[in-house]
Amino acid sequence: MFNLAIMLRESAKATPDKAAIRHDGGAVSYAELDELSDSVAEGLIALGARPGDAIGLQLPNIPEFVVAYFGILKAGAVVVPLNPLLKAREVAFCLGSSHARALITWAPVAGEAAKGAAEEGVADVFAVGPAVPTATPYSELVKPAPQRRPITPRDGSDTAAIVFTSGTTGVPKGAELTHIQLYMNADIPGRLFDVRADDVVLTILPMFHVFGMSSILNVSVRFGCTLSLVPRFDAGATLEAIERDRVTVFEGVPTMFVAVLDHPELDRYDTSSLRVAISGGAPIPAHVLDAFEQRFGVIILEGYGLTETASTTTFNISAGERRAYSVGKPIWGTETQVWDERGNRLPPGREHVGELVTRGFHVMKGYHGQPEATAEAMAGGWLHTGDLGYVDEDGFFFIIDRKKELIIRGGYNVYPREVEEILYHHPAVAEAAVIGVPDARLGEEVAAYVSLKPGKHATEAELVAYCRDRLAAYKYPRHVEIRAVLPKTANGKIAKLDLAAF
Ligand code: AMP
Repeated sequence: MFNLAIMLRESAKATPDKAAIRHDGGAVSYAELDELSDSVAEGLIALGARPGDAIGLQLPNIPEFVVAYFGILKAGAVVVPLNPLLKAREVAFCLGSSHARALITWAPVAGEAAKGAAEEGVADVFAVGPAVPTATPYSELVKPAPQRRPITPRDGSDTAAIVFTSGTTGVPKGAELTHIQLYMNADIPGRLFDVRADDVVLTILPMFHVFGMSSILNVSVRFGCTLSLVPRFDAGATLEAIERDRVTVFEGVPTMFVAVLDHPELDRYDTSSLRVAISGGAPIPAHVLDAFEQRFGVIILEGYGLTETASTTTFNISAGERRAYSVGKPIWGTETQVWDERGNRLPPGREHVGELVTRGFHVMKGYHGQPEATAEAMAGGWLHTGDLGYVDEDGFFFIIDRKKELIIRGGYNVYPREVEEILYHHPAVAEAAVIGVPDARLGEEVAAYVSLKPGKHATEAELVAYCRDRLAAYKYPRHVEIRAVLPKTANGKIAKLDLAAF
């Protein structure tokens, strides 16, 4: 029952001819998606993939992502979604720590991906797109099944995906999410926003991130809706997709709402099909929420969650009951509380800000292969989110800020420590600290502050270029500032909070 692959099979049985996917080049029906994903499962099994094996999936929002995602699940394997912008060492880290068996990547990035795969001894690398010298064509993986292949049985408690995140402590870790968690985290939020089979769900969030994978892809397939794919977010392409596919559900992170609202030719597009919008991933500024609602005549329902909670933790119930600027209430079957630093539950009220902790079916099984990090994140049986907020008298939650230092740049996560480690490699750098600074377009921009070793020389531009060569484009700091000294806390750590003002 709680098998994501069966979820697709059921929608395909109910509405075989309906478009499961619409994209620039056409449409894929549910029957076709079911059949194509069978062929991927067949190919993976022929390759020797066994139930529980991890398979890297590194694609933008193109139909093959959806096909391969369900193909991997039908083979009983585990999806490891990866950002196509990752550099070789980042790919190697994710494939290595999830013990991946194979990688399905994208031709334009296959060189970098294959380099990373080779570092970890992953020999089976398939690329979607034009032929490339570094990978086997994806078409060679796909093996049309002689007849409908049975879905490899899995328990609800078996891992369906390992999704990499900084967790609550900054070092990337693979959150293990099970079939039941992902199924329920599509089913429950979908019911809350009253998703209907005739909905067309916009896919501007990357499906390799938990928000896109769980709250968009899985929700859409669970309820037999149509996904409208935009390969990579761009405000113009988004407006075109809304008009072309008559999109009804707009899900995004706040920067996407801003970009669409600010598009110079917004009025040229017919967006009258929209009926609801969902915001999550970062706090949505009040003026953006108001302006979007007014311009598009839809209600924005805000939700809150983490990779560790298979996406949604709290959601703003229904349009009638929503509370603007709040992230809503815990979804069914889950509890969320606000705790002080000693682990005491705080009473409701704006003045009682503490860390949000949550427990329930939605909390990950753990960080793959990292029992200590798991125990730390789940101390006392509750997931410690690292987010600060409060709850009001009616049980609505509000997020104030992140306790952790994760930077969310244009919807992409940037882990300061990873950038700092690169800077520390530079021969002239003595100390480095990376923080997010407010940016009108991206929400946050990555800023680095460094001090130099005595007698060594480097320019700010040189350090920007140094990071650019070693990190995915969304991660490297656009601003590097060289300072004589960096501010310190009493115990000698760099006082990041003081950096911008120092
Ligand atoms: P990720 O694991 O990449 O999904 O990032 C999770 C983090 O995103 C959370 O810990 C929050 O800091 C942030 N986040 C998610 N949704 C919201 C929201 N609605 N408001 C504020 N922050 C959010």
